Amino acid sequence: MISRKKTRQVLVGGVPIGGDAPVAIQSMTSTYTYDVDATVGQIRRLAEAGCDIVRVAVPDKRDTDALPAILDQSPVPIVADVHFHFQRALEAIEAGVHKIRLNPGNIKDRKQVDRVIAACRERSIPIRVGVNEGSVVERKDKDLRTAQMGSLAADRRSTLIRLMVETLEDYMRIFDENDFHDVVLSAKSIDAGMVIDAYRAVSERFDLPLHLGVTHAGPPETGRIRSIAALGSLLSTGIGDTIRISYAADPIHEVEDAKELLCSLGLRNRVEPELIACPTCGRIEIDLIKLVAEVRLKLATIKTPVKVAVMGCVVNGPGEAEGADVAVFAGKGRGIIYVQGEQKRTVTEAEMLDALYEEAVAFAARVERGEAELSTARVNIAPPDPLPRKTDGSVPLAVVRER
Ligand code: SF4
Repeated sequence: MISRKKTRQVLVGGVPIGGDAPVAIQSMTSTYTYDVDATVGQIRRLAEAGCDIVRVAVPDKRDTDALPAILDQSPVPIVADVHFHFQRALEAIEAGVHKIRLNPGNIKDRKQVDRVIAACRERSIPIRVGVNEGSVVERKDKDLRTAQMGSLAADRRSTLIRLMVETLEDYMRIFDENDFHDVVLSAKSIDAGMVIDAYRAVSERFDLPLHLGVTHAGPPETGRIRSIAALGSLLSTGIGDTIRISYAADPIHEVEDAKELLCSLGLRNRVEPELIACPTCGRIEIDLIKLVAEVRLKLATIKTPVKVAVMGCVVNGPGEAEGADVAVFAGKGRGIIYVQGEQKRTVTEAEMLDALYEEAVAFAARVERGEAELSTARVNIAPPDPLPRKTDGSVPLAVVRER
């Protein structure tokens, strides 16, 4: 059980961030915000996939002009991402967005920040103050820049982390002087190790809720590892109140992976099926990789968190599938299907996908009707040793149920 750091709670629309609230999942649209239909379409898809809060970019006036129509149709709270133009923040607040994101690296003017804070206070809108490693090095003050570059050359990592924390401290002074505390902080980097160290430093320094993310993480194939390494490490030590996994891809993958990460860490209850599958090895006698991909797609239609296991054999499969509600153990062109430890049927490889799906659907329906419970029995399916084969090629398994 992960013990989470207790932070101050803010409300984004109806979604709480921080305090005792569950870790909220965020994503960001990749559409032009002024394209209302495309943006609303993507927001709806993200919300359906499990996204709690969606951020949209508002670089131009035509983007903030589109916000009222987007807000009218959005099923989830909307955050306006503002860079350089504080006016966009005022327009977005006026339009009714639920949160503003500011970057201290490009909106620095004290009077402008004061005006955004005043507008947010009037509407009870929180602000995320987000620094990135790329925006904390001074660009205008030559002397300061030279000093910072010297530090960076000597120790890039610790200098960047120090600059991120100092930038947040300087900015937060403005918020404190305005007695405004509905703030969420972020300190992103492209480097997973730096993200971990930066957020640890920010978490030690502030009691405000933290928005975790790895910036510019790349395509899912590589960005996934970077993001999960950083965010998983922080979340597992109780740091982080909301997360955005970011990929150079359809943002739906960000939400899917964020959900899986939170479920895997026990920070969110599953609401959909969980698929366990063996990695295959030299013992495999069916095309299990193809079967797993097909099972995964089919299970998406089930809305009950049934645990389904697809195992390539009975050597390690039974132990590794322990706790699965529905499981198939494949042998030579055949598979034995179990439902909560009870052998249900033996099927051919060609029948395996449909049969497993049918059993999963039937079991989910029984759970929904209150006739069965998920994971009530600790099911240990013990294969005999050595493994004899029956004349039909199937392997008899002994089933032990523990309650
Ligand atoms: S379950 Fe069997 S086939 Fe799959 S990886 Fe384990 S030993 Fe290999």
